Amino acid sequence: MIKRIANISETKAIIDKYGFSFQKRFGQNFLIDSNIIDKIIQGADLTKEDVVLEIGPGIGSLTQAMAEASKKVIAVEIDKKLIPVLEDTLSDYDNVRIINEDILKLDIMKLISEEGADHIKVVANLPYYITTPIIMNLLEKRLPISSITVMIQREVAERMDAVPGTKAYGALSLATTYYAQTELVTMVKPDCFIPKPNVGSAVIKLTRRNTPSVSVIDEATLFKIIKGGFAQRRKTLINSLTNSQPQFEKQQVIHALEVLNLDIRIRGEALNLNQYAELTNLLIKDQR
Ligand code: SAM
Repeated sequence: MIKRIANISETKAIIDKYGFSFQKRFGQNFLIDSNIIDKIIQGADLTKEDVVLEIGPGIGSLTQAMAEASKKVIAVEIDKKLIPVLEDTLSDYDNVRIINEDILKLDIMKLISEEGADHIKVVANLPYYITTPIIMNLLEKRLPISSITVMIQREVAERMDAVPGTKAYGALSLATTYYAQTELVTMVKPDCFIPKPNVGSAVIKLTRRNTPSVSVIDEATLFKIIKGGFAQRRKTLINSLTNSQPQFEKQQVIHALEVLNLDIRIRGEALNLNQYAELTNLLIKDQR
């Protein structure tokens, strides 16, 4: 095994060698705790058959360990200053491909086809400023991704994993549940990174469902209704849906709630995904 760089002394030595300065705008907080790296790899269930997409390899601390645990790692890094560093720190591995790109602009499907893989796993310590767009983009595009195991802000991880009746439950919990099964792998303290982020972190695993967990006539309407349902948490669902887009008639919403055996004073935060799906289908049918 090649010397691990996920510790404070190796990381500082690499940073000094390249005169690298951290870019806040790229959400750069590098992992310096190899136990956390091992937990991420175990959580992702990596095997020598797996092709892994890593978003934001930084100086390659997680990449290195993943190259040892998988068949191939495709590491996409936006910061061009990190490319020579990665070429150096990962020079001993012949199964790592480094791409200097913005993950939000990259054609991931093309990348997967180029690698000849039927599916890939995504594993990353994500840049926190774009956690939700990255994850939703990966889920919504219906790419052949079997799982996404990522370090994100603890609060976002809790929202993704939340169930009705909890404070963290919201539109993000429902969007995640629609596409994937969630599992919190581990909580991570700020001192596992350099520089220390000013929020707590968590590793979450999203295992993609073969088909969404509920069936709706129109997915876009489902998500608009969910968004409307949580826009003002203190309002009743009737109030929310008669004042959001698409706008429904009060009578339509009352009728749908009655069919679903739900109290007409119910708030959006009390419904689960099944109930949102049934409500969506009833409201769409009623408008036809
Ligand atoms: N994986 C490294 C580690 O664990 O030490 C670095 C993680 S750091 C939290 C996030 C990384 O994502 C940084 O290297 C940053 O430059 C990169 N990054 C930020 N925005 C990106 C984007 N849009 N596309 C690709 N990489 C990005």
